[in-house]
Amino acid sequence: MACKMLDGEKRAAEIKEELKKELAELAARGVKPHLVAVQVGENKASEVYIRSQQKAFSELGIDYTLKTLPGDITKDALVKEIEALNGDGTYTGIILQMPLPQQINAREIQACISPDKDVEAINARNMGKLVAGDLTLGPCTAAAAMELYKTTGEPLKGKDVVVVGHSEIVGKPLALMLLWHPTESATPTVCHIATKDLKAHLKRADVVFVAVGKAGLVNGADLKPGAIAIDIGINRVPVKDKDGNPVLNEKGKPKMKTVGDIDAESAEKVCSWLSPVPGGVGPITVVMLMRNTVRLAGMAGG
Ligand code: NAP
Repeated sequence: MACKMLDGEKRAAEIKEELKKELAELAARGVKPHLVAVQVGENKASEVYIRSQQKAFSELGIDYTLKTLPGDITKDALVKEIEALNGDGTYTGIILQMPLPQQINAREIQACISPDKDVEAINARNMGKLVAGDLTLGPCTAAAAMELYKTTGEPLKGKDVVVVGHSEIVGKPLALMLLWHPTESATPTVCHIATKDLKAHLKRADVVFVAVGKAGLVNGADLKPGAIAIDIGINRVPVKDKDGNPVLNEKGKPKMKTVGDIDAESAEKVCSWLSPVPGGVGPITVVMLMRNTVRLAGMAGG
């Protein structure tokens, strides 16, 4: 069976066009979405994410403000900062950039963000809405994976779906999204580090979503022929030559590449649909952040 590759860039571009229309409607109502990103301390990885967010937001003309706070800030001072942003009418959305310094518990701070400004849709009220089948907002990566799945055109109704990874930002909300409808839902199984026989679950799955962060965790041989596989993982691995030796860059250091959690070469031989890494879920994730920002602004704007 020929495997078709899912196109995250294409779907991201389509959703951006939909967002432009939503933004025009909001503008006509005098509503202007404005996201404030809070970065605590310095971190190279989060700076890369911030730059890509800034680029994406400016492309659609959505206001984006970066607020940087010192890395030695106390928990109480950070809570006060978040509370001030909750009450500041300039901003319709707040995102807390990860990672936070060690002295700060991310979950505690995220819980302080007003649910009305929670663009990552991860606080208890917004997660609770997923339980009730309301998918208006969703944690960005899980929502992006669902959007990419939808481009297959395959109904999820009744399908055996295996989600690998049960994090609060991906695996758990994804399972809730798969259970969204009283009669049209899939049949999700969520696997994690304590799952006894991951391969047995994978082998019977019509659809797999993998969000772990381990390159090559899933091999094509583990999958059911014709399965649809959505790879959410992002891993940096050394490039190897045909003999398996690392390829060096011009500085004499190992050349690196980005891969997912699924071994793409073997999966292409068995899957009906496969999402590439990069170019699959990733490009849609930042668009989901913009969609949540637009939707929350719209809800607040009456
Ligand atoms: P995470 O919080 O570290 O969660 C990883 C999950 O995988 C945990 O639930 C863990 O279970 C489970 N796990 C670990 N080893 C496993 C194994 N051998 N078998 C089955 N499950 C296993 O990571 P995350 O934030 O959800 O991100 C997961 C991956 O998605 C990462 O590669 C990340 O870079 C990527 N990601 C991609 C995007 C995107 O836009 N494409 C966005 C965010 C994240 P335990 O908790 O029980 O250990």
